[in-house]
Amino acid sequence: NSSELVSLQAVRDGAMSLMYGRFEKAGVDVHWPQRLAEFYVLGDILRLEQVLVNLLANALQAMEQSPDKRIDVSIETHDKRLLLAVRDHGPGIPEKDLERVFEPFFTTKKSGQGLGLGLSISYRIVETLDGKLTAANHPEGGAVFTIDLPRGVRPE
Ligand code: ADP
Ligand code: MG
Repeated sequence: NSSELVSLQAVRDGAMSLMYGRFEKAGVDVHWPQRLAEFYVLGDILRLEQVLVNLLANALQAMEQSPDKRIDVSIETHDKRLLLAVRDHGPGIPEKDLERVFEPFFTTKKSGQGLGLGLSISYRIVETLDGKLTAANHPEGGAVFTIDLPRGVRPE
């Protein structure tokens, strides 16, 4: 395991530099927590960017018909863990699909629009970083994907 100390600000910047144009075009706002630079995880920056890009791309697609085009990213810290949650304001995930979204080739998108691999690959990436990726619906609507990772300690 080649985990290194990764700043969430750096992960955000990397993912957003790839996604910015699409968000702009779709009129989607992404709200990030304050003081992102103070939070660190143990991981691999490129892989974490890839996971975040997958989650953000899914959120964007889920909100195509939604009046509230907003993604809320939040952070929760526990002793040794950090939870990064990406919540959208789309229709959410049907209860019967919640268990299946991480299966390879599971997609509900029209043919040509999704291969159904983004989440299965993301799940495996997070697993290799000693983390856990989970899917849920927010009680007030929308899907929430949470990445639970080993927390890094900020260098002095
Ligand atoms: P793809 O995006 O190619 O369909 P993914 O593995 O990224 O493949 O996602 C699998 C499926 O999980 C999607 O087709 C969709 O049914 C569901 N899903 C993923 N993210 C969301 C979301 N934010 N809101 C609603 N459903 C989602
Ligand atoms: Mg996808």
